[in-house]
Amino acid sequence: MKSTSRAAKPRDLGWAAEAEAYLTRHLAEADPEVAELVAREYARQAGGIELIASENVVSRAVLEAQGSWFSNKTVEGVPGDRYHGGAEIADRLEALAEVRSCRLFGAGFANVQPHSGSQANQAVFKALLKPGDRVLAMDLRAGGHLSHGSSANLSGQVYETQFYGVRETNGWLDYDALADQAGRFRPKLIVAGGSSYPRALDLPKLRAVAESVGALLLVDMAHFAGLVAGGVLENPVDHADIVTTTTYKSLRGARGGLILWTDETLSRKLRAGVFPGVQGSPLLNMIAAKAVGLGEALAPSFAAYASAVQQNARMLAETLDRRSVPVVTGGTDTPLVLVDLRGRELTGAAASDLLARAGITCNKNLVAGDPRSPRETSGLRFGVSAMTTRGADAEAMEAIGHWIADVLIGRDGRPTEDDLALERIRTEARALAHRYPYYPA
Ligand SMILES: *Cc1c(COP(=O)(O)O)cnc(C)c1O
Repeated sequence: MKSTSRAAKPRDLGWAAEAEAYLTRHLAEADPEVAELVAREYARQAGGIELIASENVVSRAVLEAQGSWFSNKTVEGVPGDRYHGGAEIADRLEALAEVRSCRLFGAGFANVQPHSGSQANQAVFKALLKPGDRVLAMDLRAGGHLSHGSSANLSGQVYETQFYGVRETNGWLDYDALADQAGRFRPKLIVAGGSSYPRALDLPKLRAVAESVGALLLVDMAHFAGLVAGGVLENPVDHADIVTTTTYKSLRGARGGLILWTDETLSRKLRAGVFPGVQGSPLLNMIAAKAVGLGEALAPSFAAYASAVQQNARMLAETLDRRSVPVVTGGTDTPLVLVDLRGRELTGAAASDLLARAGITCNKNLVAGDPRSPRETSGLRFGVSAMTTRGADAEAMEAIGHWIADVLIGRDGRPTEDDLALERIRTEARALAHRYPYYPA
């Protein structure tokens, strides 16, 4: 049979040529359909005003590490204690990423394996809690995160969670209410940090609350880790038992998660929480890219970036505030600006659609006391990490703030829905974006 005779001679020239083509063809040749989508995404990014808070722009070096030969290597376990052979170089890579993490944040120990921020949290929960144990975390509507015990997430089904909020009138965390609630609920773990709380956390107060009830304190600094790395915000590692973060938001590295801690007695449990607790083999190419990003954040120039992010976020908040767009807490200490559209006809969903038509990408977000559903919302969330990376300064942020105000409240207090008016802003926004460098296409 023809097919059998082909299979019986795998070493003939045809087979080798096929292998060579498989290993060497570029994407454009191998898969034009995906290549075209990649090219279109590049154009979208290069010409847009990117204000999605969880996004940033990684360096060419990070992209190269992501696409490196480490993509092909499987390991399990931790450096020096693996289940697969050929891991010597992978061990050095992962150890390097750990050392850089510890140096950057002054931590005693790090685990760089979590595939994402959610999995970092899942691993910590798995490591330190038993099913049914109590967790006190920030309400999703107040800026918390799904992975902090939301009923829609596995964490909310396995553990008994209660949530604390922010003051509905002004959006600030109420630490006294949190202390009272902790006293009544007696959680084993308190989680702080969220995805839309724009203010710096009062870390000593959080520590005191945790100690007063004998709870462990987990700070999830996903959104503001870059500002901690740059020395702009106080370091949660000095106050919390465990700190988790994503590496790709303000920290400006590869996509993934990171766990930091200082008490060695937690080490065995936390590592086991990641593997075999919630993950199998780590993504070594992503660990390589994380190491590169961490190296970049250790360079002195990163402090200037972090400080520019905070200044730009404040400029955006101030501009919106001056134009009477309500900003939650009246400002920000982080890369985030949260807009409160409660009591207005315009929903967060409709507002983010209008802004997208004007060339500005952001996301709808719940706000404290939000009467609308998570699909509609009464809030909008902006983050300035990506535009700051591309070179936006305070003047550019001010211009962007005015465009946002033009769309949300227009000249007469009504949103701009007119195609022509939105297209005019889009043209200006695209021109601004194209003034900044982007990767060579
Ligand atoms: C973004 C974020 C995460 C989750 O990160 P993923 O990588 O999307 O899983 C976790 N916690 C907080 C506070 C976040 O903002």
